[in-house]
Amino acid sequence: MSNNVSAPLRIAVVGAGPAGLFLTDSLLKNSGQPVSIDVIERLPTPYGLVRYGVAPDHAKIKSVITTFHKTLEDPRVRFLGNVNFGTDLTIDDVRAHYDAIVYAVGAPHDRRLGIPGEDLPGSISATEFVAWYSGHPDHSDIVHLRPDAEAAAVIGVGNVAVDVARILAKHVDELRSTDIPHPVLEKLAESKIRDVYIFGRRGPAQAKFTTKELRELGELANADIIVDPKEIELDPASEAEIAGVQAMQRNIEILRDFAGRAPEGKPRRLHLRFLASPVEIRGSGAVEQLVVEKNRLDERGNAVGTGEFETLPMQMVLRAVGYRGRALPGVPFDGRAHVIPNVLGRVVDESGSPLIGQYTTGWIKRGPSGVIGTNKACASETARELLDDVPKLTRASEPDPASVDALLASRGVNVTSWADWLALDNHEKKIGSESGRERAKITNPHAVLAELATRA
Ligand code: NAP
Repeated sequence: MSNNVSAPLRIAVVGAGPAGLFLTDSLLKNSGQPVSIDVIERLPTPYGLVRYGVAPDHAKIKSVITTFHKTLEDPRVRFLGNVNFGTDLTIDDVRAHYDAIVYAVGAPHDRRLGIPGEDLPGSISATEFVAWYSGHPDHSDIVHLRPDAEAAAVIGVGNVAVDVARILAKHVDELRSTDIPHPVLEKLAESKIRDVYIFGRRGPAQAKFTTKELRELGELANADIIVDPKEIELDPASEAEIAGVQAMQRNIEILRDFAGRAPEGKPRRLHLRFLASPVEIRGSGAVEQLVVEKNRLDERGNAVGTGEFETLPMQMVLRAVGYRGRALPGVPFDGRAHVIPNVLGRVVDESGSPLIGQYTTGWIKRGPSGVIGTNKACASETARELLDDVPKLTRASEPDPASVDALLASRGVNVTSWADWLALDNHEKKIGSESGRERAKITNPHAVLAELATRA
């Protein structure tokens, strides 16, 4: 073990999404001593869910990338893309090369509905659909829009459901100025979707979407919003639930406005449904029908089936019922909450004792909730705990950054650097400008980097 306490503090941050980058920023600003941070990312590109999750027509939310760019450009930080924690770098490797490690890997798995027919072609997770239209390299060879689909159901009433429904309801021309990859735009142009449904299993007072996102659904140029006034009637408990909660009251007002509108005959219809749970997806070979059961709310506000069913023709079902964290090899995991067990970001073992030197932040720390900005406060908390622990850290035996590079090279890992990202970034801006947009995403970073290398 090296006890060279005057060397910069070596920290590995696993995950280059908003959680990891807010954390990196907080450490840079608050460390009070020399630090050297490696941001280790499975994908060849940085920015995680800001790049591959935020809706392409929500450019303002993506502007946080400007801040993250500055963080990654700091000379104390290195971006090591295309490095998979657990295989390319194990926990033992990380312990040897860094003084502390922060897990900021998000919650990559989608939750399932657990109903018959869920695995039929045409039934997918919203996560996959979002990844596809966002140009995620894992989805570059797949088309997640069924070309024959005329009706699509999105299950869940959170912001992910709203994003997906909005993209399905928009005409491709409304999306041509976004960064959606060219091949995806071509497929969206072929869309035959006419009816998009969003199903909430509970009532409007329990819906998770935010007001801004809800309001947008009523402003679509290409789709009428359809809400059944009976489905947004509030029971006394829901009335009490929203009393004094301004955001919820605004949501109800917006929904009442939607319910009072007469359809204008726009090309697509967006049906916002409440108190209905999917119970079966039917089809021979692919999704053909969705069966939903109407619900009522019990005294605790939970959905209870009424025994009244409705069968709708449907060719796509997208579940947007939340995300789940995934266990990392060698790292404690709470299999019930699907998070890394922690106290204020300090990873703890089964007995609840802190594992000094291991920390976590973002969705894998607290579960998949909150908007991007929520990760900032979450990261500050973790950074504070880590910095408090500095005197107790076991210093790395191989703190030289070059030794990690050598190890990865010896394993044949094709690491993408910050310079590689800058080249990809320029390339995306260049191909975007050819079609009059700020950026057009590429879906095959490795192939593009190889091509750029041959031109250099
Ligand atoms: P979410 O907000 O937790 O919503 C999940 C929805 O799925 C809820 O309506 C939930 O209903 C429903 N659900 C769960 N299990 C179900 C089942 N078996 N059957 C039917 N419905 C079910 O999750 P999310 O939409 O994935 O969003 C994750 C986080 O990212 C949220 O904090 C969200 O605000 C954020 N986000 C923000 C933006 C933005 O700011 N524009 C965009 C995307 C995501 P119950 O309430 O009844 O459980």
